[in-house]
Amino acid sequence: MNIYVLLKRTFDTEEKIAINDGRIEEEGAEFIINPYDEYAVEEAINLRDEHGGEVTVVTIGEEESEKQLRTALAMGADKAVLINTEDDLEDGDQYTTVKILEAFFEDKEADIILAGNVAIDEASGQVGPRLAERLDIPYVTTITSISVDGETVQIERDVEGDVEKVETSLPLLVTCQQGLNEPRYPSLPGIMKAKKKPLEELELDDLDLDEDDVEAKTKTVDIFLPPEKEAGKVLEGEIDDQVKELVSLLRNEAKVL
Ligand SMILES: Cc1cc2nc3c(=O)[nH]c(=O)nc-3n(C[C@H](O)[C@H](O)[C@H](O)COP(=O)(O)OP(=O)(O)OC[C@H]3O[C@@H](n4cnc5c(N)ncnc54)[C@H](O)[C@@H]3O)c2cc1C
Repeated sequence: MNIYVLLKRTFDTEEKIAINDGRIEEEGAEFIINPYDEYAVEEAINLRDEHGGEVTVVTIGEEESEKQLRTALAMGADKAVLINTEDDLEDGDQYTTVKILEAFFEDKEADIILAGNVAIDEASGQVGPRLAERLDIPYVTTITSISVDGETVQIERDVEGDVEKVETSLPLLVTCQQGLNEPRYPSLPGIMKAKKKPLEELELDDLDLDEDDVEAKTKTVDIFLPPEKEAGKVLEGEIDDQVKELVSLLRNEAKVL
């Protein structure tokens, strides 16, 4: 099976984020594989181990994304491709990302493409479905289980806590949801092997694209942090007094009564 994973390098939202001039400050920020893409890498490796073939991990990014690609190779992916837009593009949006990926997949015979359900930084959840539409293949989002038998694919997907069962066929694109698997940590031998695995680097030119072809259709006007939360108030004393004080606060301070 020809298995592809779409992987995005994202900043770690568990870490403190600083915003400077309407942009997220990259200096000092921690960067990781988008967590949903880790599920995609893990599932791709499992599918390959069961059905044979190879796993290629693809990212659009800058030179620094090589680190996250090497991590995916250390987990067990076979090949990586970095589509490096550093010299060509300053801005991009979902249109840009999908247009580049569409050109990349033009001459590939992908049986299955696995993406994350959503990127934790920009969280549009658009890239997977939009790419499938452009490639004219079926897609199933937020999957929590997948089994492939010949051309037939059985899938379970998370629908807000319920499970929906779907049958579809290859070639296919899926987006991966929490619960699909437990992504492995790269082992030491895996890390050593990853250094020798192929990592191809492409630029827009190699995909017969130029800047105008992929120009963003949207513009981010502003990015800002949520307002700081005020400290809560802890009421003390007898329950009766606390209730009276609470009612008074709700009426006079919060003005909700
Ligand atoms: C050249 C370029 C320049 C950019 N410049 C800026 C900028 O200046 N400011 C800014 O805020 N954003 C910038 N971006 C980021 C861009 O807006 C988002 O990466 C893109 O729109 C995807 O949206 P999302 O992150 O919400 O992805 P989602 O649709 O939420 O992601 C879902 C899944 O799609 C796949 N995916 C998403 N992005 C990529 C990727 N890059 N490579 C491989 N797979 C991917 C992953 O599997 C991911 O889990 C740029 C992107 C590109 C390509």
